[in-house]
Amino acid sequence: MPPFAFDNSYARELPGAYVPWKPTPAPAPRLLYLNEPLADELGLDAAALRGPEGAALFAGNAVPEGAEPIAQAYAGHQFGGFSPQLGDGRALLLGELIDRHGQRRDIAFKGSGRTPFSRGGDGKAAVGPMLREVLVGEAMHALGIPTTRALAVAGTGEPVYRERPLPGAVLTRVAASHLRVGTFQYFASRGDLERLRRLADYTIARHDPGLAGTPQRYLALLRAVARRQAVLIAQWLNVGFIHGVMNTDNMTLSGETIDYGPCAFIEAYDPAAVFSSIDHGGRYAYGNQPGIARWNLARLAETLLPLLADSEDEAAMQHAVAQATEVIDAFPGWFEAALLDGQRRKLGLAGADAADAALAQDWLALLHTQAVDFTLGWRRLADAADGNDAPLRALFAEPAALEPWLARWRARGPHDATAMRRASPWIIPRNHRVEEALAAATNDDDLAPFEQLLDALRRPWDEEAALARYAEPAPAAVTAGYQTFCGT
Ligand code: AMP
Ligand code: MG
Repeated sequence: MPPFAFDNSYARELPGAYVPWKPTPAPAPRLLYLNEPLADELGLDAAALRGPEGAALFAGNAVPEGAEPIAQAYAGHQFGGFSPQLGDGRALLLGELIDRHGQRRDIAFKGSGRTPFSRGGDGKAAVGPMLREVLVGEAMHALGIPTTRALAVAGTGEPVYRERPLPGAVLTRVAASHLRVGTFQYFASRGDLERLRRLADYTIARHDPGLAGTPQRYLALLRAVARRQAVLIAQWLNVGFIHGVMNTDNMTLSGETIDYGPCAFIEAYDPAAVFSSIDHGGRYAYGNQPGIARWNLARLAETLLPLLADSEDEAAMQHAVAQATEVIDAFPGWFEAALLDGQRRKLGLAGADAADAALAQDWLALLHTQAVDFTLGWRRLADAADGNDAPLRALFAEPAALEPWLARWRARGPHDATAMRRASPWIIPRNHRVEEALAAATNDDDLAPFEQLLDALRRPWDEEAALARYAEPAPAAVTAGYQTFCGT
């Protein structure tokens, strides 16, 4: 197999931010999934990776030359409570590759065995949740939403024990980086200013190189991260995505979506929708996500305060707090602007009118009161732009309720139906289809439903008759009882 050209800047430049560690070998490695387009983007030889050497590599049995596997240290607020040490309890960063576009990408395992950060956990992962990460990550990528992506999933040939024994697997994840809000919290909570500064400079070099060496760079970094998150969360909301576990250790500095655990896509529109089995208070509900993102960014801002202040005296600290607060207070405006930008595209509107935000809000309120499927509602609005209103009316329990809004929307025309269909997908990873694919893989060792669903998720825009089953909403009773789980 051709060598991987690893360049491990994280291990080299950030001592104290990780522990060197090795993956636990698997008894019977088997390649379940290889992302060939992504392998190609990374300059890897997909054909060579398909063979037994690939299976050994992606199960963690053969560490490729040049890799320096490390378990990354991080802290984090989980459901609002702070843990000063979380870290990679079942993950390892193998190293970084420079892709065909010159971008540095992390290559990391998830499910590769216990590490010094495992606490009570077994360090392992089951096939179902790892294939779920493939499906949702590839769907997000196809939807144009920044995301980490799965390169491969290898079966280990070993059971993992959850509520019942499940087949084990290792996921190989590709990310712009694994720098998280929690990575900053790790050093800040220890009062390790020296390493915190190195981490911030490293993050700037990696994600905002234009800021390197500038006098106000840490404030500018905070602003850049907040802007990326504003755009990201707006994109989530505009496709109906619920992350489900927006802890500070699951929020990246790169602006990529990370850690597809208890995530789900909304069906009938409801801003209070929650699917995660452990999210009793609805902290991470669909409509709470912008507020939580802001809360997480405030935690990041706190870690940066000692870097923002040029001295430790009271006045300098107060000035730093004021500067950071200005960024955090600007976040809702950036988010609203990004959201409205996306909504205008989904509504087919050209230009900007002061009444557009109300038009979008009233549309969402209609979808909510009429329990309309979010994805199909937007899609059928594009049909209405083509003069075909019947499919849209058919989604409403009381079609008459739609008429006044439709008249307002028409008055704000003309609408570009083709552009609308480029802003609102036809296919999203519907929960019942995801579960069906994972059940076949887990219970019957049958990967065909997974592969077919993945293929559909990669073509979310055009209405192809052959893919119709993936566009259908789940029966309402299924959605009402649907729950997702963490850390599996
Ligand atoms: P998550 O919310 O899934 O991102 O994980 C939160 C923390 O729990 C991280 O420190 C993970 O490494 C750790 N963790 C999750 N599952 C396991 C597991 N099975 N074994 C060890 N650590 C785990
Ligand atoms: Mg995580």
